[in-house]
Amino acid sequence: MIIINILHIGIDDTDSPDGMCTTFLASQIINKFEYNGIEIIDYPRLIRLNPFARFKTRGNGAVGLKILNDGNGDLAKKIVLDAVEKLSMFDCDNTNPGVIFYEGEITKEMENYAFRAIYEFITIEEAEEFGNSVGCEIHKFKKGRGIIGSIAAISLPLSDCTFELLTYRASENYGAKRRIDYESVYKMDKETFPDTFENIDYSEDYIAIEPKTPCPVLYGIRSNTVEALKKAGDIVQVSEPVVDWCIFKTNQHTDMHIQKTTDISSMNQYGCYEVEGEVKNKPKIIDGGHMFFHIFDESGEIECGAYEPTKNFRKTVSYLRPGDIIKVYGGIGEQNTFNIEKFKVIKLNDIEYKNPICKCGKRMTSAGKNKGFKCKKCGNKIQENEKVPIKITRFLKNAQFYETPVSARRHLSKPLCRMNL
Ligand code: ATP
Repeated sequence: MIIINILHIGIDDTDSPDGMCTTFLASQIINKFEYNGIEIIDYPRLIRLNPFARFKTRGNGAVGLKILNDGNGDLAKKIVLDAVEKLSMFDCDNTNPGVIFYEGEITKEMENYAFRAIYEFITIEEAEEFGNSVGCEIHKFKKGRGIIGSIAAISLPLSDCTFELLTYRASENYGAKRRIDYESVYKMDKETFPDTFENIDYSEDYIAIEPKTPCPVLYGIRSNTVEALKKAGDIVQVSEPVVDWCIFKTNQHTDMHIQKTTDISSMNQYGCYEVEGEVKNKPKIIDGGHMFFHIFDESGEIECGAYEPTKNFRKTVSYLRPGDIIKVYGGIGEQNTFNIEKFKVIKLNDIEYKNPICKCGKRMTSAGKNKGFKCKKCGNKIQENEKVPIKITRFLKNAQFYETPVSARRHLSKPLCRMNL
């Protein structure tokens, strides 16, 4: 039996809102590996973790690399640690890089740890204790918070995955407006969607492949396949230098953050879930443009929110009415409100109860509590107190999914175009 020695490398928390990106650092490391003949196995991984993690810079992403450890392990480690030392944004209080090295197979307990890093909060101490217990070599810079994500980045099983092509800018252009030919982005979307996705938000005329931060990324294209990325990358035109590019294997847009639950009451703050419930009240918009309503089941109830950045999705949500049964997908945030990423209509309440129609054709009005109905036109009175059920036309459809627009989509959220509906 041939035993292949693999060295797993996890890197996280190297960037700040003012610059850098851990993926860029990884691509620099990969270049050095290639230059030194270090064999990289599989695509580098970009793993998104708990969207509610407190110290995230943007999308809570960590990077994992796998190399063949055939005597080059020490050199590889030196390249990684030197790059983190040289490129991390150490001046930022919230930048606390962590690097881990791990030799061998990823164990079940490491996989479980990775899911915990998506579902829950983990402390630096917990991560360190866990890493030591499974034999990780741990390197902490400053507080070393990055080790939390680094261990998860190498450990997460990717039963479903997507790919992202990231291109990088020349350093003199960092912070300047990106020179991307938007027409070519529309062309790329037309020719490669749905193999690529999240390129453009047509409702907002928003180019989603272009970051809005001063980081080294010029653009990022997301896809189900590497082939589609290559085609897409050839179509997109830019008028500034692309100094490097890298394709990452990711858990983006897989819904890996969503835990299935049958009870509303079993959900916890900062967790992400899929749960079914009955709409309790008509969705209402409040100051700031956020829209709220409640759903309930036998175990309890929760407020659901479609926030202002979800734009037209709020209009869709506004069509819900009490009695509708829906399944919501999303997470419970700061205010203990369920932040909806998408919902599925299980059963619409298409019955409305109205006053009866009089024999003269006019709808009757109430004659007072328990006094039946009266007709204002012909004076007719009936003793019957019950309103009559009327089938109404609904804008929403049974069994249909409705999702937030691209511009408001979470990295982990699975878009409908990936759901084989
Ligand atoms: P970018 O997406 O631009 O790379 P980011 O949003 O990934 O930035 P980081 O700089 O990586 O932000 O910071 C996130 C921090 O949160 C890291 O230190 C990471 O280890 C930590 N972290 C990740 N998951 C968890 C978790 N489940 N619990 C607690 N901390 C976490």
